[in-house]
Amino acid sequence: MTAIHDVLVLGAGMVGVSAALEARRRGLSVVLVDRRGPGEETSYGNSGVIDGGNLYPVAMPRDLPTLFKHALNRQTASHYHLAALPRVAGWMFDYWRWSAVDKLEETARVMRPFFAEAVGSHREFAKIAGAERFFRQDGWLELYRLQSSLDAQERRLKLAKEYGLNSTKLSMGETLELEPHLKGAFAGAIWQQDSDTVSSPGGVTKAYAEAFVAAGGRLAKGDAMTLAKVPEGFAVDTDEGRVLARQAVVALGIWSKDLVAKFGYSVPLAAKRGYHRHYQPKGNAFLSRQVCDEDVGYVLCPMEQGIRLTTGVEIALAEAPKTPVQVERAFRAASDLFDLGEPVEAEPWMGRRPATPDSRPIIGPAPGHEGLWFAFGHGHWGFTLGPATAKALLSAMSGEPPHVDLTPYRMGRWG
Ligand SMILES: Cc1cc2nc3c(=O)[nH]c(=O)nc-3n(C[C@H](O)[C@H](O)[C@H](O)COP(=O)(O)OP(=O)(O)OC[C@H]3O[C@@H](n4cnc5c(N)ncnc54)[C@H](O)[C@@H]3O)c2cc1C
Repeated sequence: MTAIHDVLVLGAGMVGVSAALEARRRGLSVVLVDRRGPGEETSYGNSGVIDGGNLYPVAMPRDLPTLFKHALNRQTASHYHLAALPRVAGWMFDYWRWSAVDKLEETARVMRPFFAEAVGSHREFAKIAGAERFFRQDGWLELYRLQSSLDAQERRLKLAKEYGLNSTKLSMGETLELEPHLKGAFAGAIWQQDSDTVSSPGGVTKAYAEAFVAAGGRLAKGDAMTLAKVPEGFAVDTDEGRVLARQAVVALGIWSKDLVAKFGYSVPLAAKRGYHRHYQPKGNAFLSRQVCDEDVGYVLCPMEQGIRLTTGVEIALAEAPKTPVQVERAFRAASDLFDLGEPVEAEPWMGRRPATPDSRPIIGPAPGHEGLWFAFGHGHWGFTLGPATAKALLSAMSGEPPHVDLTPYRMGRWG
């Protein structure tokens, strides 16, 4: 007779792996299904910032001169495919509406409890998984080339103080004390001290998946698109045969949109694509933490493979061919700040941030299918929020009173 498991988790990125590990920690029988190995898509190639101090979501510019600059398509921070615009215009308009200051502040308030749990939850999971070697516990730097840009952060710094966050404004000299191998002229930085960073986001995700298996969880290769409602609950086809479970969690990042559409749910999820490439540092140059060049729009990330340059947003259809123009632009700009040498790989990597227009993920039950749960759409912060999402989700799935209110993340919020 085929076993009926408690939980089927679809997608082994940071969100799905965390949900599977948390479910297993609660003693549930769990199968985690992916068509690839754990942490080999978006959760592999990100900047590795666990941004516990995050306040404002990444917003779309609202003033006309900045919008015009981006429309010219020559920026490092953004790029778009003209052909994609008719398909994403509605999503972009909603994103623009949600980028108003009052909306950003509302999202900051709504999401604060989640971000506040991010670092603690990761450290807990890292301890279980023996993954502490990847972690650095000394924050990251937002670097500002222009004094006017640094000064423009005052309102946010004030809000950060009200929330009790350690966001410290540094002069150029103070920044160089933390990162002596930065070079060139810049105004200063904000040191986000409530965050951890990692040297291998893919390594961390794989380590959590290994901890899940070591704790008795089952990892299977399969196509999540075969998910079907059956009398026992849900069924999916894997290389090892059909797997049955009473409850199923959709954690497929950007690909969640296609699966939930099969069940009749339409979600405003767009791919904010991003690229990375690793470079050898020249000579003895090193960085101790991630540094974001805020005025240009890319991040320098010290990783196991070298210095990873990660780019801003590319608006394109999820499966459209790669156009890594931002990597070249970021490399040229980064050379002002740090001595980068040869690239490590022949080709840049590309990933897809699964983004909603209100920059809030979708976490909670499927309104029309008992036993079906959603955990996707974490946009710029899915690596940060994976373990915290898993804890809130598993509380809700177990019928416990929620320690984080999931109402702002419900599926039906767009009407
Ligand atoms: C350049 C860049 C920098 C970033 N920097 C940061 C950062 O510093 N901090 C941060 O918190 N976040 C960052 N992010 C965002 C973060 O990477 C994502 O939000 C996060 O990885 C999403 O995780 P996920 O588990 O939802 O999706 P994914 O990691 O994409 O996982 C989805 C999984 O579903 C699987 N899948 C898809 N379709 C199927 C199918 N049909 N059958 C079976 N399996 C399937 C895939 O193989 C994959 O393993 C960054 C993203 C990018 C692109």
